[in-house]
Amino acid sequence: MSSLPTHSRQVLLASRPDGAPTPENFRFHDAPLAPLADGQVLLATQYLSLDPYMRGRMSSAASYAAPVEVGGLMVGGTVSRVLATRDSAFAEGDLVLGYTGWQSHAVAEGKGLSKLPAHIPQPSYALGVLGMPGFTAYRGLTWIGEPKPGETVVVSAATGAVGAVVGQIAKILGCRVVGIAGGARKCAYAVETLGFDACVDHRDADLRERLQQACPDGIDVYFENVGGAVFDAVLPLLNKFARVPLCGLVAQYNARALPDGPDRFSVLPRALLTKSIRMQGFIIFDSYAEHYAGFLDTMSAWLAEGRIKVLEDVVSGLDNAPAAFIGMLEGRNFGKLVVRVGA
Ligand code: NDP
Repeated sequence: MSSLPTHSRQVLLASRPDGAPTPENFRFHDAPLAPLADGQVLLATQYLSLDPYMRGRMSSAASYAAPVEVGGLMVGGTVSRVLATRDSAFAEGDLVLGYTGWQSHAVAEGKGLSKLPAHIPQPSYALGVLGMPGFTAYRGLTWIGEPKPGETVVVSAATGAVGAVVGQIAKILGCRVVGIAGGARKCAYAVETLGFDACVDHRDADLRERLQQACPDGIDVYFENVGGAVFDAVLPLLNKFARVPLCGLVAQYNARALPDGPDRFSVLPRALLTKSIRMQGFIIFDSYAEHYAGFLDTMSAWLAEGRIKVLEDVVSGLDNAPAAFIGMLEGRNFGKLVVRVGA
């Protein structure tokens, strides 16, 4: 047997970003691994998930979760292989889902880990379509969006980890689906591979007109991932009794201040009131205990039947994680972004 590692290569938060993160906000560090105590396991990270919420953890602004301290390990979901264990629930060689952050190895409490679902097609799917982003798509769309056959569903960041799943579920449920994505390549993929009815490029100067043309009957459900100018284009097209699952506002995560322009607070409540629109934010972590198991069954079946397609953007090596994360906030990822950390 090869000898066990003694150190973990880590990515730490070196400083808090002012606007868009830069490579200087991250620092690499080799940390010694402590000996295993009872109930602990030694893990080798296989895949690290990169997700937009991590931008919030880099900031000290109040949020639904505590920030990473400056000098602290960047947080993140991981799929890891068990190298050694003092928790009888796990065996050497098991693949486990955990929250062990941006590092090559970890000593973790066994009770914070779960084995990957049986028959998972790819281990990394536990961080994407069968994990937190897929669950977010399913829960936000079905619980808040309540789409009905024949309705028009619009989703932004349409080829990303959440958006691609939202649109495909809406198609399964019999809706007309229009994506909003950055660039011709992403839009072509949404229509040709994911089966959306249309997709418009939010970088087009005439986004509003193109969206209107793609939604001749207005919008019944808008799954909001982005905010900003995209939401401004969507709002006038929302139908009476439209539902808006407010999932994310990635266009604003790097903002230093409120955007220029009219005070939207005078516009939005008026639209909500006069059109009886329901807009509801949600944080997926509140739904796991009650709803994750049902989601996993449904999504696993759809995957097995080939009704949901998966696109992953796999970056090789922990050293490339900061650049990949910075790029995701600029739309440079194409599909669910994961880092292949170990062999
Ligand atoms: P994605 O895989 O979709 O990656 C982020 C994408 O956001 C980019 O590829 C880009 O897509 C888009 N984007 C970035 N900047 C802008 C911009 N300025 N204007 C428009 N689009 C932009 O990420 P996820 O699928 O993981 O996350 C999607 C959203 O869901 C995020 O807002 C995230 O915070 C949220 N989320 C919320 C959860 C919750 O519990 N509420 C849980 C999980 C995710 P493009 O090139 O197409 O514009």
